[in-house]
Amino acid sequence: MIDFSKALQDKIDIISQNWVEAVRADEQIESAKQLTYDSVRDSLPIVLQAIVTMLSQSEDSDLRTVIQESLDHGGVRAQQGFDAQEIAREYRLLRRVIFEALEPELLKGSAAEVNRAYRLIDTALDEAIADCFKTYTQARFQELQELQNHLQLTNQELTRLVRASQENLSHLAHELKTPLTSIIGYSELFLRQGKNSQLKDSAPNLAHIDKVLSNGRRLLRLINDTLEISRYDAGRINLQLTATNVRSAIGTVVEILEPLAKAKNLEIAVDCDPVLDQVMTDYLRLQQIITNLASNAIRYTQAGTITIKTKLLPDKHWSICITDTGIGIASEDCDRIFLPYFRADNSLAPYIPDSTGLGLAIVARLVNLLQGKIELVSEVGVGSSFTVIFPLELEGF
Ligand code: ADP
Repeated sequence: MIDFSKALQDKIDIISQNWVEAVRADEQIESAKQLTYDSVRDSLPIVLQAIVTMLSQSEDSDLRTVIQESLDHGGVRAQQGFDAQEIAREYRLLRRVIFEALEPELLKGSAAEVNRAYRLIDTALDEAIADCFKTYTQARFQELQELQNHLQLTNQELTRLVRASQENLSHLAHELKTPLTSIIGYSELFLRQGKNSQLKDSAPNLAHIDKVLSNGRRLLRLINDTLEISRYDAGRINLQLTATNVRSAIGTVVEILEPLAKAKNLEIAVDCDPVLDQVMTDYLRLQQIITNLASNAIRYTQAGTITIKTKLLPDKHWSICITDTGIGIASEDCDRIFLPYFRADNSLAPYIPDSTGLGLAIVARLVNLLQGKIELVSEVGVGSSFTVIFPLELEGF
């Protein structure tokens, strides 16, 4: 009669050694490459010892030790950075190494003895794999949770920093506004007084003051636009919805922009759908969108007409379309012009002194706030058409 228990007992060292070598030599077990002999071997001799007990006819089964050691082994492998496939592979190698070592005895044993030995070793190894994976996945899950907690903390810190820098920016902008407003005010006063003055040599001084004034106004526009963007990005813009007559909102904007258009001999044509007289929207934000789009249309057009057209659309939407016969926008710039501070490089573009690159970035944010979308069709040298489409009813109001 073959004593498989004794055979395995005699071969614990050689099996452990062969297995560690097989694991380290295996191309698909990368994680074992840097580990010491003892780290790879871990508690294998104890597991093998427990299988020796299981195989002995006399002693009680020692599956408990297999379970305990395999649970620990799963934690060790998680710490060592093994992935699940590497663990599955090391157990496959262990099975092979054990049966190779016991081959001489297996060849000599009776069918019943061999069957029993196979069954017990398989049971022990199956149990070992299951327990090892149990703690391995638990450890990995815990790692993931720790990582998630860490990410959450980093995210909170980043949000705090972004908010702090937004607040610093707003603070700085507000601080700049007060002296700037006073510079602009005094320049205007000086200019008015200078124009009434009879002194002959005051003309060059007036030209200088005129420059101070126009640069001051440009700076103020930049500050106001930056503040507007930072208010939006900080989620600090609250919509005030009122039933709005779109035609009158457009009328006010046209009244303000008409002198600019006239100065360039441009015509502004308005075509409003009369049905749009009770549209729920934020009157001031809508005016700001129209102002930015229409003033761009005027600034980037040398001759022709600016058309502002509104339409009631099917599916409960309405649109406002501002078309110009200006320099147009190259197709590769059509998305980028909505980014803050972006200005298209157009050889047809005239020098625009008060260009900040923020007007369309503000439009994009406001349109988004009003749950609308912008469509742009443009051709260089022909003109551009910005269409903003809004829902008649805003969600969540
Ligand atoms: P700004 O006009 O102050 O530079 P905007 O954000 O309003 O900033 O516009 C960004 C850029 O998009 C402009 O610099 C210009 O190159 C281009 N652009 C905007 N509107 C038009 C238009 N109607 N026609 C041609 N180019 C335009």
